[in-house]
Amino acid sequence: MSATLRHGVIREVGLRDGLQSIQTIISTERKCEWLRDAVALGQREIEVGSFVPPKLLPQMADTAEVLTYAKTLPGLFVSALVPNLKGAERALEGGADLMILPASASRAHSLANLRKTPDEVVAEFARIRAVRDASGRKTVLEGGVGTAFGCTLQGEVKADDVLRLMQGLLDAGADRVSLADTVGYADPDAVSRLFDQALKVAGDKLWCGHFHDTRGLALANVLAALKLGIARFDASLAGIGGCPHAPGASGNASTEDLAYMLESMGIDTGIDVEALLRLRAKVADWLQGESTYGSLWRAGLPKTFRSARVAAHG
Ligand code: ZN
Repeated sequence: MSATLRHGVIREVGLRDGLQSIQTIISTERKCEWLRDAVALGQREIEVGSFVPPKLLPQMADTAEVLTYAKTLPGLFVSALVPNLKGAERALEGGADLMILPASASRAHSLANLRKTPDEVVAEFARIRAVRDASGRKTVLEGGVGTAFGCTLQGEVKADDVLRLMQGLLDAGADRVSLADTVGYADPDAVSRLFDQALKVAGDKLWCGHFHDTRGLALANVLAALKLGIARFDASLAGIGGCPHAPGASGNASTEDLAYMLESMGIDTGIDVEALLRLRAKVADWLQGESTYGSLWRAGLPKTFRSARVAAHG
């Protein structure tokens, strides 16, 4: 681990990546309760939903309301996913702090998920940048490069395709880019190689890793990226998650397991892990009948656990 890394950010994506992939529709009130609890226990970056047509994802139909509520919570940096210009206009209207446009390095996944080729997504991204600039809003624009490690539809995704797409998004005006293992194909060596190459393309604009735990390697993959200095990771409470157009995708890195790992390593996340476990229990209760994941909730914290902040101050 890089000796200077003292702080890490976990961006909660359970309310978007998690909820969009499961059948249960959580009420707006419960989403707001989740947000309130998450902020109270120290989470500072949350992706609150996705501006997709409600007929495609009814779970996300209340994203505008949830965004409005999230913006009332002090100190919270609020993200929303936008699949296109129309979604971006709604995120701007709602005053999102960040909007993320998912792009896909796999042409097959891009066509299935966004009904556009990767080049067409880059062109849409440039239009979104122009509208953002004209709006006078400060909303940060992130290009998420998905299926970066392989694709259930297409199989292999070449690193050149990933890096070319990343460069295209940067050229089109991305403030930030991130790499996502959408379907859980990555391993730590692949993460080291690709993030190393991506850092050469994007420098400090590469700010986030998104790993699905489909094959149990999400935390190992986080660690590989962490060693290269990446300090921000997406994760989902109770490890819920997936993608409706990536068959077999399941489970993000679980927020509670990731927070536990980082805190144990002396990396301050600002999160109260015990309170996070209580929130996990509440949300899992709302999701009865759905699959949830993770390990920490079964075993509990070890007696020797000290949060990074406590450890640093004796
Ligand atoms: Zn995902």
